[in-house]
Amino acid sequence: MRDDLLKQAKRIVVKIGSSLVASQGSGLRPDRIERLADEISVIKASGREVLLVSSGAIVSGIQKLGLKAYPKSLPVKQAAAAVGQSRLMWAYEKAFERLGQKVAQILLTHQDLADRRRFLNARHTLTALIDFGVIPVINENDTVAVDEIRFGDNDSLAAQVAHLVDADLLVILSDVDGLFTEDPRRNPSATLIPLVSEITKDIERRAGTSSSFEGTGGMATKVQAAKKVAEYGVATLILNGETPGLLPAVFNGSPAGTLVLPRSRRLTSRKHWIAFTLRAKGQVSVDDGAVEALVRRGKSLLPSGIIAVSGDFGPGDAVTCADRHGKEFAKGLVNFPSDTLHKIKGLKTADIRKTMGDQEYEEVIHRDNLVIL
Ligand code: GLU
Repeated sequence: MRDDLLKQAKRIVVKIGSSLVASQGSGLRPDRIERLADEISVIKASGREVLLVSSGAIVSGIQKLGLKAYPKSLPVKQAAAAVGQSRLMWAYEKAFERLGQKVAQILLTHQDLADRRRFLNARHTLTALIDFGVIPVINENDTVAVDEIRFGDNDSLAAQVAHLVDADLLVILSDVDGLFTEDPRRNPSATLIPLVSEITKDIERRAGTSSSFEGTGGMATKVQAAKKVAEYGVATLILNGETPGLLPAVFNGSPAGTLVLPRSRRLTSRKHWIAFTLRAKGQVSVDDGAVEALVRRGKSLLPSGIIAVSGDFGPGDAVTCADRHGKEFAKGLVNFPSDTLHKIKGLKTADIRKTMGDQEYEEVIHRDNLVIL
């Protein structure tokens, strides 16, 4: 199964972690980038399409600016990213040029993908680059991204890119061998988990508590990235990028790393975008009848089922749906702003008409815009 999946993967997003390509003390590692470029070219030469998501801008900028430590202040981090990104890209440009391979720089913010039109536009641009045989090298646009528009970590960015381009496989390269049964630095008997068929709570717990996994996101963000893309039918391979030759070897049957299998029933692109790209601006709590109607009977959410509304949102924004106990079970795009919802919650359509006149929509969230989580 693992071999088939890796052999058949045609479009691959490879995420390269900061620690592989740069260190705070000595900056960028062009030798490492060259070696990775060689290996990526081998994969591409075997008829696959490759997109890179590379970190390393900030760490490389730290050294170039002569900073002593990882900056705390946002403007300094952003300055380091700006200085480091051009150096990072220059290294990729040179490394791939040796091999006659063209690359392109793409810098994205969360905002670019949260707008459906811009999302589709980014998809078309990346597809055009792939059609030209170019390898896109993607990073977060750290220089302008502030909290609300940040992906936060590049594992998450890579997951969104895998969805954006309909990839078959996401490869996360870092300085660890994969997911272990226990923290391998604390427990020498910990063993590598070669195959994960589903990201369960237990897997999330193992990834979350392991302190041995260094880097911006650690293992927790890698597992979350794998979980997100699995819902879209994309497999994830977590692999050690420090070991020379490992990347091409896994496509020839080498059993390294942890492979997370995709779900067999995948969400449509739009529903995946609602569930995993958009950020919720608020929450509606609904009664048991509404939970049943939404989850079991595939119905839309009506005002009568709503018991509470929180957050400040407008029509078209994403909100989560929670049951009476506060457990989130769905997410969707609302038709009404939060202030209107406060007035019409719990009411039947006829009563709403009586007090507020005809409304443009009957449903608060139409089933086509609703994802059960
Ligand atoms: N975008 C950041 C950089 O290039 C890295 C974020 C991350 O490592 O997750 O420096």
